[in-house]
Amino acid sequence: MPSPNQIVFFDTTLRDGEQSPGCTMHHDEKLRMAHQLAALGVDVLEAGFAIASEGDFNAVQAIAREVHGTRIASLARCKREDIEAAGRAVQPAASNRIHVFLASSDLHLEYKLRITREQALDHAAESVQFARTFTDDVEFSTEDGTRSDHEFLIKMITVAVQAGATTINIPDTVGYTTPDEYAAIFRLVKTRVPGIENVILSTHCHNDLGMAVANSLAGIQAGARQVECTINGIGERAGNAALEEIAAAIMVRHDIYPYTHNLKMTELYPTSQMLAECISFGCSPNKAVVGANAFAHESGIHQHGMMSNPLTYEIMTPASVGAGNTNLVLGKHSGRRALADRLEKLGHPLDRNQLDEVYTRFTELADRKKSIYDQDLLSLLQPAKSVVATH
Ligand code: MN
Repeated sequence: MPSPNQIVFFDTTLRDGEQSPGCTMHHDEKLRMAHQLAALGVDVLEAGFAIASEGDFNAVQAIAREVHGTRIASLARCKREDIEAAGRAVQPAASNRIHVFLASSDLHLEYKLRITREQALDHAAESVQFARTFTDDVEFSTEDGTRSDHEFLIKMITVAVQAGATTINIPDTVGYTTPDEYAAIFRLVKTRVPGIENVILSTHCHNDLGMAVANSLAGIQAGARQVECTINGIGERAGNAALEEIAAAIMVRHDIYPYTHNLKMTELYPTSQMLAECISFGCSPNKAVVGANAFAHESGIHQHGMMSNPLTYEIMTPASVGAGNTNLVLGKHSGRRALADRLEKLGHPLDRNQLDEVYTRFTELADRKKSIYDQDLLSLLQPAKSVVATH
């Protein structure tokens, strides 16, 4: 068992993320991402769902063969052929995992799987035991766990632990839970399941109500030591908990979240950028930690503060997550000071009168144009320069 405050980062960008609309990746893109995720330092890399297609199987197997320094996992339903495919696909990796899942909510058992609770318990036990014949690292997930009857959830987890599961994941599959409720489920499981102290509990949260990261952190505070997440928060529907946001919360609020992990924080932004390239869409500009505006400031008051001391409006530096420098965006809310500063950096120090003149033209332009680039600023200087030249 790792140290009591060590968090296992389980990345599912290539499985839960990849199976969401518009996020399909080709073989080479998956391999490229997998190498980058290993460089980022994720502990477990869920490379895909081996039974889903030949392409998925080949990608998981190639990642298991070629990507080192992280544990390679494949998802599997509680079916022999799924577990066999997963086992064969992850076999080449130095350390691997089979991740089996079965629904624990009556809604899913009755309408999706059409099996009884008793049958579900049997499937869970048989599947975990069978998976253990391929690897000694088996994760079991109670799909739709947060909408399950608590007594039955405890029964199913107990059966999985007895069958040899080494990690127990309680997913908020549909993004329905709240931080307090999710934490209470973990505390209940910890007190009620025999032998639970020998397994790692895991969160897996979806963002349908915008609470995936908050729920994941609440789960950790209640004793979970693995967190399942994705780069840029991609994933089914509204997405998964965003890895970079959980990591940043642990970094910035270490007083509240005193946990350790193996992530290399400066790889967060490069990983986010690589994913955007692979799937052809980035995150929204206002996305926490890795969005284009996450470290950008336009208003004069904020820019003045940032130039005096960055701590005034930034709780972390962009460099700490590998995102380069703070960006003081010049727009209609900016002041003279930021304009003078930028022009000086561009090689045009202005005296007070020149600055007044250029600032007037700047505000006129900023009223018409949403984004002001350095070229725009340089063109604002032209009339002033020509006046100088002819007189
Ligand atoms: Mn999911």
